[in-house]
Amino acid sequence: MLLGAALAAAWPAHAHGAEIEAALSACVAPVRAGDAATEMLESPGRFDCGGTGLRTAHGDVWVLLTPRAPLAADSLDFEAGWQRDATLTVRRADGSLGTVRLDNATLSRLTTFGRNTRVPLPHGAAPITALLLRLDGAANLGALLRNPELESEAASRTDDVTEVAIYAGFGGICLALLVYNLVVWVTLRERFQLAYCAVLLAMAVVSYADSGGWSLAFPDGDFTTRLRLARVAIGLMAIFAFGFLCDFLEPWATPRWLRIASLSARCLLAAASIAVGLAPFALIEQAHHAYLAAYAAIPVLTIALAASGIRRGSKAARILALACCGPLAVGFASLAHAMGLVDLGELATHQNVFSMALFALTTSTAMAFRIKAITRERDTARAEERVARQLAEIDPLTGLLNRRAMLDRTLAWASEEPLRLLLVDIDHFKQVNDHHGHDHGDAVLRELAELLAARAELRASVARLGGEEFALIGTARELPSGMALAILSDIRTHAFAGGLRLTVSIGMATGPVRDEPQWRDLYRRADTALYAAKSGGRNRAVDHAAHMLPQETAPGRARPGLAGGTG
Ligand code: GH3
Ligand code: MG
Ligand code: MG
Repeated sequence: MLLGAALAAAWPAHAHGAEIEAALSACVAPVRAGDAATEMLESPGRFDCGGTGLRTAHGDVWVLLTPRAPLAADSLDFEAGWQRDATLTVRRADGSLGTVRLDNATLSRLTTFGRNTRVPLPHGAAPITALLLRLDGAANLGALLRNPELESEAASRTDDVTEVAIYAGFGGICLALLVYNLVVWVTLRERFQLAYCAVLLAMAVVSYADSGGWSLAFPDGDFTTRLRLARVAIGLMAIFAFGFLCDFLEPWATPRWLRIASLSARCLLAAASIAVGLAPFALIEQAHHAYLAAYAAIPVLTIALAASGIRRGSKAARILALACCGPLAVGFASLAHAMGLVDLGELATHQNVFSMALFALTTSTAMAFRIKAITRERDTARAEERVARQLAEIDPLTGLLNRRAMLDRTLAWASEEPLRLLLVDIDHFKQVNDHHGHDHGDAVLRELAELLAARAELRASVARLGGEEFALIGTARELPSGMALAILSDIRTHAFAGGLRLTVSIGMATGPVRDEPQWRDLYRRADTALYAAKSGGRNRAVDHAAHMLPQETAPGRARPGLAGGTG
């Protein structure tokens, strides 16, 4: 964009005299055998000047271009169409004639800035009274030619600067949006972002062909090849743009039949674009009609997509409808222009660039809204997932880890050191329930969980394995053998809800835990030790390795579960 503005400012636009730009009226006549340019210039009666001639005639055709009054000019400017060959004859007021051969290689060379071909006129002193173009094998795709004008060199320079500014600006928009959207895609990975980037690339190819970039790169290339390239790129752009619109909507916002219709329309347009790109010249008109028909389905389906999305309550569809209003209006207008229903005149020359830039900018804004909505949805989903994962790992009664979570964390830890497992089981807990009720039993379980967590601090994992059985796991440093005795003592001395006194039995074992079999083995040994503690009289801790911790028992409490109880 900056390049375009700089060029526009720096170009010596007014350095070549007066700016003359005069529109020419066009009359058309079919070529008959034996016709010569000199005779045709003298036979105005042969020509159809009704205005529809340029849009309907094809094959071998004479096109008579006349200024309103004789005029001195340097070049003939017009948007050339599809023909096998062409010759221009220029008549001046003094009766002199000049001829320029315009085969497709020459046309390509003369079309360097934008879509207009500029034919330098043979030199002569007298003003120009008429120009006669003979088009051989013209394929009429909308018009034989568009916007014929006589121009002075100064006016041509101004046109060039305008073209460079427009295409450089458009190229800048494409490049900036492409880089920006690729970067955003790397983090979000939404399909519509890639489709949008493909649209931008296709737009870049359209402007490459339309701006004359192609002609500069291939000066001797065939002019119709350039036209084919532009049509194919426009077809691809429409396919990607429509794909973008389909992906842009939430999947539930589009009914199945519309998704199928949209995919079919894209396939048809792809086939028609290939046909325009590859068809032999003799069939180019038929290929082009198929292309226009497939192309016309796109805006119709776009409206259907937006309407059905809005009906289904899609926010993306509403954003899309707003974003597409401008480009759709331009698209319909240019389609009508191509079909000869309206005449956009000079505007039509750049309507492609304007509608592409409009589409690129409005959809980019629409994407910002959509991306915001997607990010919000993802954040909510992630938060919910976090909560769900936490809930799945936590024992709801005590807030400790559950059995599965402790095992998962221990395995994920993959400690190099051997781990120590303490199984803590309340003695005669059933009687607490029986005598004080289940709710009271629950309160006791919660209190015990707090005591264990406080004792373990943050060093070891504490879990409720189920019922009234708890576990602590950590390295031997984190869970020294004194820890079991400390727990026994904590519980003995604690007054539980309702003044209840309790004791626990503890089984302890040590070993590596890298996988589930090792965990099972460790658990089995700790359980054996716990069983030994229970059968040894409860209220004690047993180490599977040492078989019994020496100083752990508290004699004289055969039924500690009821000691101090009120029931
Ligand atoms: P022992 O000394 O042999 O361990 O005897 P005990 O009564 O503690 O063991 P037993 O396995 O016979 O009974 C365990 C009781 O724990 C039975 C059940 O009612 C109770 N229990 C299990 N889960 C819960 C719970 O979530 N809440 C309450 N209140 N009680 C539970
Ligand atoms: Mg018990
Ligand atoms: Mg038990």
